[in-house]
Amino acid sequence: MDILALLLMGLVFVASLVIQGGLQATFARFSRVANSRGLTGAEVARAILDAHGLTHVRVEPVPGALTDHYDPHAKAVRLSEPNYASPSLAALAVAAHEVGHAVQDAHGYTWLRVRASLWPAASLGTNLGPILVVGGLMLGAIGLAKLGLYLYLAVALFQLVTLPVEFDASRRALEFLRRMGFLSREEMAPAQKVLTWAALTYVAALASSLATILYYASLLMGRREE
Ligand SMILES: [Zn+2]
Repeated sequence: MDILALLLMGLVFVASLVIQGGLQATFARFSRVANSRGLTGAEVARAILDAHGLTHVRVEPVPGALTDHYDPHAKAVRLSEPNYASPSLAALAVAAHEVGHAVQDAHGYTWLRVRASLWPAASLGTNLGPILVVGGLMLGAIGLAKLGLYLYLAVALFQLVTLPVEFDASRRALEFLRRMGFLSREEMAPAQKVLTWAALTYVAALASSLATILYYASLLMGRREE
């Protein structure tokens, strides 16, 4: 059982690397292709927000690569500096995706709210879960290790709820880009590719957590039999 779980962890790890590589390659490829209208990520984000009455949501540049996110507390769409200023197809796809989260927030999208309510437990699990499980197993404190495993489960649940949130933001993004005429029919496919690879990284994160939980659970079950 331990060996099987370890093997599964290895497989998921390799699959995660492949997905990371796929995202980086696809992103790099379409970062070099400008959209036919020459609009930047920031301009498109601003236009979509305004079209949805979200004039109070700010669009700001943030340092780093692929650091793009929506901050629901600050009501700000933050685009990584390259995406903020770039007119590339990849930049537009990412900018529209982050605006998708802002629109979800404005509409009180259910899964976004569920995800936010799970955040404290997931945050605790990310920080404390590994310490409790590994420490508990090393010290033979099975109760402690079990508690750590529950925290890991909270992280996995958070990652599971993240999937509909991310898929929905990408679905909205493609709809904005198409309906508002920012991308031509030929330019839609590359944007969809970028967002699909990005979505797969969230699936990989969940699979990685589940494999880790399975591995630790098998170790714990082994301990109980001794
Ligand atoms: Zn997202």
